[in-house]
Amino acid sequence: MDSMLSPNFREEDAHEERLRPSFLNEFQGQNIIKENLRVFISAADSRGDALDHVLLTGPPGLGKTTLAGIIANERGVEFRVTSAPAIEKPKDLAGLLTTITPNGVLFIDEIHRLKPVIEEMLYIAMEDYALDWIIGQGPSARNVRIPLPPFTLIGATTKAGKISTPLISRFGITFHFNLYDKDDIVKVIERSASIMELDIKDDALFLLAQCSRGTPRIANRILRRVRDFAQVYEYDFINSEIVTITMKKLGIDSYGLEEHDRRILYTILKKFNGGPVGGENLAIALGESLDTLEDYYEPYLIRLGFIQRTSRGRIITPRGIEHIKNVYDIAGDD
Ligand code: ADP
Repeated sequence: MDSMLSPNFREEDAHEERLRPSFLNEFQGQNIIKENLRVFISAADSRGDALDHVLLTGPPGLGKTTLAGIIANERGVEFRVTSAPAIEKPKDLAGLLTTITPNGVLFIDEIHRLKPVIEEMLYIAMEDYALDWIIGQGPSARNVRIPLPPFTLIGATTKAGKISTPLISRFGITFHFNLYDKDDIVKVIERSASIMELDIKDDALFLLAQCSRGTPRIANRILRRVRDFAQVYEYDFINSEIVTITMKKLGIDSYGLEEHDRRILYTILKKFNGGPVGGENLAIALGESLDTLEDYYEPYLIRLGFIQRTSRGRIITPRGIEHIKNVYDIAGDD
């Protein structure tokens, strides 16, 4: 079975589009981002302008795509979605931008993966609402400037550090998403449970929130699995008992860690004597890509205080050692 963190789950999420908030008042948590956004949206509305370009950074599943859609909805404008790897040629970008309705939103996911030629086209598009287009070849080639409708580019990335300075400087608004605290995840689960018409008791709510890694996408996924178990085991409502049963079946512990997280802790402790170990070496030892390790697994292990990233690499903390010793029943010093 795929891990709850697996990007492959996206397909299943598509069936749960109804859980995705459409407007700011349905978007739980992230209060500072919402407050600021309300001001920027209302100012752009009153001027009748396109909203300034927005960069959203932070780990996956925290609501970057959702917020981009909300911005378009709140402004009542068109919302176009793509991702950097899908924009292969200049004409792909031109196709998207020349036909967008005025003040529309173009959302580009994984914006750190843009090809250099596309990125350079975007600089002018973002700054001047225009595209520089080369017509012809060789000595007769000439440059034509094509005007574009005013638009808002919303870029999202899990790797803010990989975006070039010229691109970053063209975003007027930047928001960084942190993992949600428990109260906000509780609100996400409450909202989803009500849309799914589930009767969920407080003890179950808090337990679920504790196991959701501060990530709305994971909270929703686990809730769906709990719904399955509750249905098959004939529970009329969701209480902590059925949540605990589900967690056990899924191999998720009370901190929300899965087998793979525990393997990361175990590998640092046993193979690398507790660290420091460089990200690449750790990824190789785990048979994992560095991106997946950094984007999906590490933020939460760091948040829990189970590992630390130091200038010399990752180390497991005494808290992390304690946890892994309990789980695997091992002595920490052999
Ligand atoms: P990202 O683009 O950061 O990977 P998404 O925007 O796709 O994350 O969010 C994943 C899912 O989590 C969405 O389908 C949505 O249902 C839910 N979600 C994310 N943020 C929130 C939020 N603040 N409130 C309620 N649900 C949320």
